[in-house]
Formats: sequence, C-alpha cells, structure tokens
Amino acid sequence: MVTTRRQFLQDSSVFLSVGAAAWPWMTSEAKEKSMLNKTSPVIVSTWPFGKASNDEALRILQQGGSGLDAVEKGIWVTENDLSNSSVGAGGMPNAMGVVQLDSCIMSGPGHKAGSVAAIEGIRHPISAARRVMEKTRHVMLVGAGAREFALKEGLEVAEMPTEGRRREWLQWKAEQEKSAAKNHDTIALILLAPDGHLYGGCSTSGWAYKLPGRVGDSPIIGGGLYVDDEVGAAGATGIGENVMRYCGSFQVVSFMQRGATPTEACLETVKAIARKDPKGADLSINFIAVDKKGRYGAAGSAQGFSYSVTTPKFSQVETGRAISTKELGPVGGNRP
Ligand code: ASP
Repeated sequence: MVTTRRQFLQDSSVFLSVGAAAWPWMTSEAKEKSMLNKTSPVIVSTWPFGKASNDEALRILQQGGSGLDAVEKGIWVTENDLSNSSVGAGGMPNAMGVVQLDSCIMSGPGHKAGSVAAIEGIRHPISAARRVMEKTRHVMLVGAGAREFALKEGLEVAEMPTEGRRREWLQWKAEQEKSAAKNHDTIALILLAPDGHLYGGCSTSGWAYKLPGRVGDSPIIGGGLYVDDEVGAAGATGIGENVMRYCGSFQVVSFMQRGATPTEACLETVKAIARKDPKGADLSINFIAVDKKGRYGAAGSAQGFSYSVTTPKFSQVETGRAISTKELGPVGGNRP
C-alpha cells in the first residue's frame, strides 16, 4: 500500500532520526513536474544520449506498441550508436580487451524481471535480458551461458570492440600503470506507459578496462533498476559498486512508497548512502525516477547529472538535483 505524504513525513523523521526542519524539500512539492493524466506516457532516461532512446520509445508507444517494446527498442537506439563508448558494441572493453555487457529489464505488471551479465558479442543485450524474462524460469544469466542462450534465441551478434576502441585499449595497456580509465555510463530507461503500468531497462558495457568478469549494478534488480507497478520505477548510473552495495534503485522506489516525490526519493537515497558510506559524498552515483502519477525527477552525488525526459508534449534534457553538503550533515559514518 502506498503511504500518504503525511505518513511518510512522520515515518521518515522517526526512521532517519532527523527532524522535519532538516527536510526543506518537504515543502517543495509544487516544484515537482507532474504529468497527472495517466494516459500520457512519461519516459525518463539517463544522460543526454538517452533522449534519442526516449524519442524512439515514445514513437513505439504512440503506434500502440507495448511498454516493454518501448523499453527494448528505445534502448536499441543507444546500443546501436557505435560512438557511445559505454553502451553496446561501441562500448569500451575490459582489461583483457573483451567487451562484456550488462543489461536488465523489468515489467511492472507481474513484477517480472530478466537480466544478463558479462555477455559477449551480442548486439542487443537488452533483448537477451527480455528473452530471459519471457522465455526462461530464471531472472539472470551470465557470461558464456547468457551468450549461448542469446544465440539460441537467434539474437544478432556484433563485432566488438570496434577498431577504435581496440586501439584505445592497446594504448591503455601500454600505459596502464599510469592511467586509471574513468569511462563508464549506462542507459537506464524507465517509463509510465499509456496503459498506466511501469516498465524499465538498463544497458551498459560497465567500467572501461574492468577486471574480466566484473559485473556492475546495471543488471542487478534493485541495484541499477527497480520497478514496482504500484509505486514507481527507478534507475541508476555511476559507479556501480557504490549503487549495488546499497540496493540503490530499490531504495529510491522505497522512498517513493513512503510518500516522497521522485526527486525527493532520488535525493534521499543519495544522502542515505553518503551518510553511511566510508567514501562520504564522493560516490559518483545518480538516480532517475518516475512515479505512478507520472511525476519524475533525478538526483546525483555531484552537480551536473543530466537526464532526458520525453512526453508527447516535449522531449528535453534536464539537470538533476545534487546533494548539498550543507543539508547533508556528517557523512561517511561507516568508516572501518
Ligand atoms: N553503473 C555502471 C557500472 O558500474 C556504469 C555507469 O553507469 O556509469 O557498470
């Protein structure tokens, strides 16, 4: 059951032992953007590159396609973009020069999920994740098993890394003692469909030059993505290790369930993690969220997280809220 806003405010102050005065956002609900008409789709994705995926997802919904088709085919657009160095075949390889992709999908109706991790040579990992959800009794397949399954399903293979990424990798290998590669991003795309249901998906190549076999938050249900059809959907991008240790997307949905708006929920999740984590606010994590009413928002651990929002009325890149050290209080409480 979704709690009322009043209950959330009461529960939260007990739950987090903070007085209402420390929660200035609680009075700022008017600032939230609302798409109250349930039949109006709202599509939210991470980063400016998500906009092209959102536009495709909207086109599919407007042609009568399902929410899952919109998530899958929307994410295809980013997976197909070889200039994108952190998603799909254009993604950067691991330390051994092999591209290993992570992806997951969730359907609000039926609370269904599918996921693939460290899958190699498959052009659309999001489709492999969807097939796991729809055609197996499992939720997650990894590595060689995931690839085998995708091939049996007839999914398209792709050469990866691209020539350019291979050259960059060779260069990194030659200098690896000196440089730690910082490249990583994810497309997480969540939407409220015209049928009033929530859906979402994620796809990434993860950290550039990661250890072979490393799996990030993006294929982890509750980590990089979570959808609760009665409440809302959330997705993450950033350092997966800092998201998955805290079930980040699950926390965002959980805050919404207790009455927070999507922006508040993203912000509170980042704050909760920063207060606890030995890294303090130096987390490099960002969340997007949409709720059952079609309200949406985003927040990150630092300024400048941009995300894409698409509805039948507009399609644009917006900037998420960032935690401010002033309102945060002491951080990094769980130091060893
Ligand atoms: N979360 C992804 C991972 O850790 C990367 C990113 O979104 O920046 O694999």
